[in-house]
Amino acid sequence: MLPKTIKDIPLTKQKILMRVDFNVPLTKQGTIADTTRIDATLPTIKFLLSQDCAIILMSHLGKVEGQKDPKYSLKPCADYLGKILKKPVKFVQECVGPIAENACKALQSGEILLLENLRLHSEETNPSPPYLFAKELASYAHIYVNDAFGTSHRKHSSTYYVPSFLPNTSVAGLLVEQELHYLTQCLNPEKPFSAIVGGAKISTKIGVLEALLNKVSSLFIGGAMAFTFLKAEGKATGKSLIEEEHIGTAKNILKKALDANIKIYLPLDIVYVDHFESFTQKKIYSIHEAPPSEWVGVDIGPATILEWEKPLAKSKTIFWNGPMGVFEQAEFAKGTLSLAQFLARLPATKIIGGGDSVAAIQSLHMSSAFSHLSTGGGASLELIEKGSLPAIDILTRK
Ligand code: AMP
Repeated sequence: MLPKTIKDIPLTKQKILMRVDFNVPLTKQGTIADTTRIDATLPTIKFLLSQDCAIILMSHLGKVEGQKDPKYSLKPCADYLGKILKKPVKFVQECVGPIAENACKALQSGEILLLENLRLHSEETNPSPPYLFAKELASYAHIYVNDAFGTSHRKHSSTYYVPSFLPNTSVAGLLVEQELHYLTQCLNPEKPFSAIVGGAKISTKIGVLEALLNKVSSLFIGGAMAFTFLKAEGKATGKSLIEEEHIGTAKNILKKALDANIKIYLPLDIVYVDHFESFTQKKIYSIHEAPPSEWVGVDIGPATILEWEKPLAKSKTIFWNGPMGVFEQAEFAKGTLSLAQFLARLPATKIIGGGDSVAAIQSLHMSSAFSHLSTGGGASLELIEKGSLPAIDILTRK
């Protein structure tokens, strides 16, 4: 069942506590390298401003747990938000305690306040009874809004326990609503449904691969994880990244797919280089040939894309997560980018599950050719795997 959203409850002049995901990438100088995550919350913030609400924003930034670190201050996010909204965004250097509490109390309708990084307190990621940190945050407002889709798979204080203290007035923001609208289509997809999964490791995606097997018509596997599958089929893969301990998992998935009459497409050809770091030789090998034993596979080849095009073109729904090669290096990005360019032309509902595949599409300036680019890689995979997310389940039901 879907949660209520900010459109389902009266909000005029209310004080709102809103969890956002301002976990933006930072440059070495500490400035914001990519504002996508902040920009994604603008529709909700503007909607709340149109209702004359007082908005208290809270977020985490970086992988800090419990220690003060000026490197991970959210102040630059407050400054950026103020600039694009063309109105002051207040900032307090704490998220709990008297300074934060007074700032929240003093906040007037139409004003915005951003609290300091939640993860400077270990209680954010390690909540335990009686959940005093969450209780204090929840005391700042009567209405809680979750617009942090990217952290909705986490059962943290601000994502799960704060709304549990506001059981009838915790709702989803417009970003979360949009994410759920598209990603739940992968749970009950219009068929044929194709899923393309890439990235580094099978181990991090076993759950989602197995869940997808129950739903897809075809499954396409690229990236380094394809090597473990190729190895499971007895193919030579040189020194490519393999998870020896998951060759059995790969065999299992291949067998399940065969039994269920689901076609798994592995690469037909691979781009190999002599050295990963500074290569002097590069060559495409068919999977039926053995590359030199020291060479490393870094991308899928052109024959693979050609083979995949036909079944992908017949799909009504397509889900894609994970790059097809080491796409951060321009010489090894061709497979990922050609796939993105091909998908852009298809009329299917195309849902991109966060992270590197979204970055690849954005680098091509092709975002508008896709139905949905998720802001949460981990959250979108967990939603597809388990069918629900803790920080969504805890919100007030429709
Ligand atoms: P994931 O977070 O599991 O989606 O993995 C993304 C990472 O997989 C990216 O950093 C890619 O560079 C990496 N990757 C994709 N293909 C390969 C490959 N053939 N060899 C090594 N790493 C790869």
